[in-house]
Amino acid sequence: MSYALPIAAQRRGACPTLDAPMQTGDGLLARIRLAGGRIDPIRLERLASICGTYGNGVIEITARGNLQVRGLGEAVVSRFARDVRDVVAVETGLVVEVPPLAGDDPLEFVDPRPLAAAIKELSAPLAARLGPKVTVVVDGNGQIGLEALKADLRFVAVGGDRWLISVGAELLGTTSQPLDCARIMLTALANLGPLARATDLRDLDLGDLVQPSAPVRQPVTSPIGKFQLHRHDVTGLGLPFGAMAWESIAALAEDAWRFGISEFRLGPHHSLLAVGADDSLLAEAAQVGFIMDPRDPRTRIRACIGSAGCASGHIAARSDAARLALLLPANTSLHVSGCAKGCAHPGVSDVTLVGRSDGYGLVIHGRASDTPQALLRADQLGAVLAGAQG
Ligand code: SF4
Repeated sequence: MSYALPIAAQRRGACPTLDAPMQTGDGLLARIRLAGGRIDPIRLERLASICGTYGNGVIEITARGNLQVRGLGEAVVSRFARDVRDVVAVETGLVVEVPPLAGDDPLEFVDPRPLAAAIKELSAPLAARLGPKVTVVVDGNGQIGLEALKADLRFVAVGGDRWLISVGAELLGTTSQPLDCARIMLTALANLGPLARATDLRDLDLGDLVQPSAPVRQPVTSPIGKFQLHRHDVTGLGLPFGAMAWESIAALAEDAWRFGISEFRLGPHHSLLAVGADDSLLAEAAQVGFIMDPRDPRTRIRACIGSAGCASGHIAARSDAARLALLLPANTSLHVSGCAKGCAHPGVSDVTLVGRSDGYGLVIHGRASDTPQALLRADQLGAVLAGAQG
């Protein structure tokens, strides 16, 4: 019996989920939003094994800290979803994000999770009328902020009971009644229908709920490296190109007791944070391939699996990316894409190399789908990249 894909999976603008995966060039892609973004080592090992069994063997952590599995066949989608839910709670409904250290971070002004939970609760009756990409960020303004992630509504704690409130990229001011603001704005978005986004709320008047404020820039901090929590250290590990063999993640989870890890957290910018890890973790994690240094050039590179696992790929994109990483100039971003679909990164990069049947298309300050400015051979990539500017 063939599996009938949910309509959301095929609708333009929808986000892939566990129940409604999305068709890509390398099979179906499912995204798993772990409830709370936290998982104990035993469950992580089991989850990695399930993902490895059903998918293409690679686990991704997205820029927003969700798990992603590619290469699923239609026939296994419902069994995969059932097995995942047997191990972890999966979040649905409005996306409300908090930083990975929320609640334990000595530098945050306030634990943002109660406000996030209240916003999630108030949004429940509206969820069917909110677009699938609508996102709310609630940030306690601690060591790892979510400044770099786009959000329709954003609340950032600034001390006392006050929160900066932004709609899209526009700062509205500060408020001490963030829940009332969220209720008004989400209701307005829901009334506009599932295609509405933050930019449609420009003329919304929040009256006395918001007072004018000068912008406060949050520093963008890499989640890779060591951070101090109230009771533990936490070590952020980066996934090269946002992806890792499932066996590497399972091996780390299996050895967690040896490294003193009590919990893992999914972090932004393709990271996995190990809570309570001792120093012996560092060597082991580096050996299985995690990025341990926030300055590692691979943090500025996006690459899909390419021809190593996708029928549409013309080049082994991740192998090429690994080879080119040491040549990447500082402050320059690179996207190596197996074909013009650009699955790994829909946005603009300083340099994009696109696999084609006749070589590599070169796009400067553009996307994989843009018309290339030049066609390169493999032996020309290094020289071109070394001369690129961010
Ligand atoms: S961009 Fe990469 S993953 Fe996507 S279809 Fe092309 S080769 Fe496959």
